[in-house]
Amino acid sequence: MSHRHRQERWLHTRISPDLEQALKREARKQRTPVSLLVRNVLEGALDLVEEIVEDSLEIADTSRRFARRVSRAARGERNELADIYGWQEIILNREAVCGACASTLAVGLAAHRGLSERSRAPVFLCSKCIRQLRQPGDKHKEEGS
Ligand SMILES: [Zn+2]
Repeated sequence: MSHRHRQERWLHTRISPDLEQALKREARKQRTPVSLLVRNVLEGALDLVEEIVEDSLEIADTSRRFARRVSRAARGERNELADIYGWQEIILNREAVCGACASTLAVGLAAHRGLSERSRAPVFLCSKCIRQLRQPGDKHKEEGS
């Protein structure tokens, strides 16, 4: 941390009376000048930010793994679509992405929009995924014939 001390600068800032009292109290407790306490707090905060950035990289990794799990679940068990109570066929007026297989659905295509009681981002299924929903196990048997 000594590199931060090499060329010291003054930094003036306005603080509230409460913060001033808290800083003075803490400085008395630590038997250190207020200015040194403030500097230590700021450097501690910067170190914390560096740690947070490093942790964030790990978190991003975890998030990617989580996203992969979610999309796998959507393809398999459709957990992510658990709150959808039905699918309504629509003709797309703008491009969308299938919520299960992630294929791009072009303008003018028939797609199915998920209906949910809670407000959520609209979710669509392509006709292939709807067929799989109608006939789990991908068996194409005609019913009742
Ligand atoms: Zn699909």
